[in-house]
Amino acid sequence: MSRFFSKKYSALKAYVPGEQPKDKKYIKLNTNESPYPPSDSVLKAVSAEAMELMLYSDPEASALTKKCAEIYGVTPDMVLMTNGSDEILNFAFMAFSDAEHPIVFPEITYGFYPVFAELNGIPYERIPLREGFNIDPENYIGIGKNIVIANPNAPTGIALPLSDIERIVASNPDNVVIIDEAYIDFGGESAVPLVKKYSNLIVTMTFSKSRSMAGARLGFGIASPELIRDINTIKYSTNPYNVNRMTQAAGLAALCDNSYYMDNCKRIMETREYTAKSLISLGFEVLPSSTNFLFARSDRISGEELYIELKSRGVLVRHFTDPRISDYNRITVGSREDMEKLVCLLNDILNEKGN
Ligand code: PMP
Repeated sequence: MSRFFSKKYSALKAYVPGEQPKDKKYIKLNTNESPYPPSDSVLKAVSAEAMELMLYSDPEASALTKKCAEIYGVTPDMVLMTNGSDEILNFAFMAFSDAEHPIVFPEITYGFYPVFAELNGIPYERIPLREGFNIDPENYIGIGKNIVIANPNAPTGIALPLSDIERIVASNPDNVVIIDEAYIDFGGESAVPLVKKYSNLIVTMTFSKSRSMAGARLGFGIASPELIRDINTIKYSTNPYNVNRMTQAAGLAALCDNSYYMDNCKRIMETREYTAKSLISLGFEVLPSSTNFLFARSDRISGEELYIELKSRGVLVRHFTDPRISDYNRITVGSREDMEKLVCLLNDILNEKGN
């Protein structure tokens, strides 16, 4: 740390993204990317847009916002596009939480939430999970604090039913509830239909997982026009051109090819079921996943050792050092071929352990 670094950030523990090693080609199952490439029309849209790069991007991302609103059955003033969904999450923390308006979230969840809270000087509380890593909705009913819940949750993969989300939102009318639906296209029930009914609800989504665009950095939020206006105040005070031209073009083309992406999600869900069954038959405990990843542990090998063994054999998975989940690995569901390779390697590793 330099002597110039602001004191207010000196204790900040930055978020650590999943590793992106360059030493060799891995089967990458560590950052929940899609195994499928973007559709052809995305490629064409990006290359056409490249010739316009001397011009700033549209700060309102108008065409993309309009198409997104159409797909999700809301009006364009209820949608805000951002540089990945991390950006809208941070904007929403900044806009609605402060020392007088603390925020709560599950004790095991997306690791960025405490970082956003600390970055913005927001007091926060982690709410314990039930046995089996389930979120207990009762803990959030009438809690009287801002709330962020990933649904389905990460890294567990477990989804809450929409009826529970609605009870949480309805019981906290004076607080903002953010539902982070980064993984919603893999089997969860979206809270978007509730946005018209509840003016305290924000739903965030991303193009990084189900729409094969992690590298383009595109996310969005859906909420009442009033909340979107507030988040826009933060956006225009931070980075008005937050979504670049090529990403806007790519996002629009992807939304126009929605069925290609939703078909890919179905394939990923089928591969998830194959992989979960195979892991269970190898003796793994696998949490019920509504996402494009599986959270699994084995009694026969520690989470860390399994991560190291797989990495040495060319497969990257995500291991978390937090002691509550250090027995587990989070395994992205890749192509069927990659998952068959993974299952073979797991079989070899466990056989070599010989217990
Ligand atoms: N929410 C959750 C639960 C996530 O796992 C991620 C991916 N790391 C994000 C949000 C952010 O994704 P992105 O910024 O790529 O949209």
